[in-house]
Amino acid sequence: MMTDTVPPAVSGIGTAPELEAVARRYAVKTTPFLEALMAGAGPDDPLVRQFRPDARELVTTPDEVADPIGDDAKSPLPGIVHRYPDRLLLKPVHVCAAYCRFCFRREVVGPGSEALNDAQLDAALAYIAAQPKVWEVILTGGDPLLLSPRRIRRITEALDAVPQVEIVRWHTRLPVHDPARITCDLVTALTAAPRLVPWVAIHANHADEFVPEVVAAVRRLADAGIPLVSQSVLLRGVNDTPEALEALFRALVRNRIKPYYLHHPDLASGTSHFRLPVEEGRALMKRLRGRVSGLGLPTYILDRPGGLGKVPLGPAWPEDWSDGTGPDVLTY
Ligand code: SF4
Repeated sequence: MMTDTVPPAVSGIGTAPELEAVARRYAVKTTPFLEALMAGAGPDDPLVRQFRPDARELVTTPDEVADPIGDDAKSPLPGIVHRYPDRLLLKPVHVCAAYCRFCFRREVVGPGSEALNDAQLDAALAYIAAQPKVWEVILTGGDPLLLSPRRIRRITEALDAVPQVEIVRWHTRLPVHDPARITCDLVTALTAAPRLVPWVAIHANHADEFVPEVVAAVRRLADAGIPLVSQSVLLRGVNDTPEALEALFRALVRNRIKPYYLHHPDLASGTSHFRLPVEEGRALMKRLRGRVSGLGLPTYILDRPGGLGKVPLGPAWPEDWSDGTGPDVLTY
């Protein structure tokens, strides 16, 4: 597999020894595309905060864990996470084109554990075929769009042969990391199956990520008829204001991506500087309701530690029915 990337960056937020210690602990890598966007930017730039290593990553708080959403507990064999009856995760690759500093899988993604081999992939596909209730397969990783178009087509065609599987959803940050890799061949591979419906979930966290090259990559996917949704992470110092979130959600909708999930940050090791209280996140979402079209509002979500699954965080609406407009007066 080719990963068109630059060597680990030694630049970042902290001293050289601190940043070297971060790079020994966690994967550090960006792409030439991201490097060009970050050239000359200061430490408060939203891309710099997401991709440059930071000495604060060396701090691990007592509540942080190596597997914050409990993938391991729900993994019956390599590459599969089966948490819900009607869907499961297939993780064919454990590398990304660039490594986000807040990554919730940072203990398992990175060089050295690159992809399922052919035998492991065959075993994972056989497991899926034997699950009569699985309707949707979610490709994640790492970044599964780093696979070659040939391998993407192979997975697509194998899943197309499983009658109960109707939907395949590819989770990716590649359009942001390296948009030139969203090629026509890749798009053709995603849409290769005659029956299976492909969706793509694009990970984006800030409106500044939607530079023309990224917009063009997203357009290649949308123009092929692939429905697009987003997942974003609420991050201290990146998008933790109503203005930043509003701009992000409008950019997503403008680019034909339905905002799907806004994740509360997970308890991943060395990421406490990105976290904010749930109540602050709920207050942000409450301020956006009424300010942004419902089309642009994702579900604010928490992945409960220990593999217990996702719960919506609200905000709870409304807090006060005393004005007589509550559900008790509704007659339908
Ligand atoms: S793209 Fe996803 S899996 Fe890869 S480093 Fe970023 S958050 Fe982690």
